[in-house]
Amino acid sequence: MEIPFNRFYLTGNELEYVRQAQLQEHLCGDGPFSRKCASWLEEKTGCRKALLVPSCTAALEMAAMLLDIRAGDEVIMPSFTFVSTANAFVVRGGVPVFVDIRADSLNLDESLVEAALTPRTRAIVPVHYAGVGCEMDALLALAAERGLELIEDAAHGILASYKGRGLGSIGQLAGLSFHETKNVVSGEGGALLINDARHERRAEIIREKGTNRTEFLRGAVDRYSWVDIGSSYLPSEIVAAFLWAQLERSEEITARRLAVWRHYHAGLADLERQGKVRRPVVPQHCGANAHLYYLLLPDEARRESFIRALAKRGVEASFHYVPLHSSPAGRKFGRTHGDLAVTDQVACRLVRLPLWTAMEPAVVDHVLQAVEEAARSF
Ligand SMILES: *Cc1c(COP(=O)(O)O)cnc(C)c1O
Repeated sequence: MEIPFNRFYLTGNELEYVRQAQLQEHLCGDGPFSRKCASWLEEKTGCRKALLVPSCTAALEMAAMLLDIRAGDEVIMPSFTFVSTANAFVVRGGVPVFVDIRADSLNLDESLVEAALTPRTRAIVPVHYAGVGCEMDALLALAAERGLELIEDAAHGILASYKGRGLGSIGQLAGLSFHETKNVVSGEGGALLINDARHERRAEIIREKGTNRTEFLRGAVDRYSWVDIGSSYLPSEIVAAFLWAQLERSEEITARRLAVWRHYHAGLADLERQGKVRRPVVPQHCGANAHLYYLLLPDEARRESFIRALAKRGVEASFHYVPLHSSPAGRKFGRTHGDLAVTDQVACRLVRLPLWTAMEPAVVDHVLQAVEEAARSF
């Protein structure tokens, strides 16, 4: 059996909604499907306002524009994340300051953030790794005390929660991703979630090429013009129609992924007891969405041989992430605070197992069997 790492899920309504988007004679952004998606996101995440954008990367870039990030402004973030977390700020001249992660959730270690702040710090960007919430209460308190903005990278976070609050509804701004590899997909796609009224009007302007066209369309002004910086951050109705077919079924998608996740988690308990692997840790107060399932191996050598042994059994597993502070651009544009020991440890020991929405229990069992065999050698 060949088991791929990921398979995107289709609800079956995608093409029908795309057909409707064509028939409704509104193909550019912010038509009926975009409005449905945005209202749904506002209702389900609890954010103040949701704007569909082409990607989570675009949402984070908009956040950097909204904050007026200038050359030399510092932004606190984990190094254990995808490049976009940093790039979005670097393109505005910002300097990513990489802080270590917690050994349990693999999220930004909130206890290390305060010592990393300088007079140039403008924002903190926690990344909810694997859809597990960061320690937002501590970060919110620190951000409020020091006058910093909190920008959630909630690319993994759709329908997950922290102390009952939807991920993406907690910081001033947040980004969601609907990339093909995430839980809810539109090929490429994302949303900017806004929770601070201060950012609302300008976000609409930046998204509409620096014009107040959104206000014009609402009838609030009788013409629109160029009023600020901006770019083209509206996805078309074709993308929004596809996305709507996914969002309206996303609770079911999450439930199915959670079933796969729990199947893995139960099946790997013995190996953890034997000390061969460490399973993911989800704090009690976090509602998870099973974005991914990972294991921590004892060391890098065993991680490499483990991935090879799985591949021999037809199972495609993969690592996560090359830490940004050790990548060429990270070294050039960012700086580190402290030694990032947990980040370096985790990045060379982590393996992600195949997980997709429609993964059948027999396929999960096949992976579990392969994992057991692969772990026998150490
Ligand atoms: C996928 C991902 C992104 C980027 O999302 P896009 O929608 O592909 O731009 C950003 N941050 C994290 C943590 C991600 O996993």
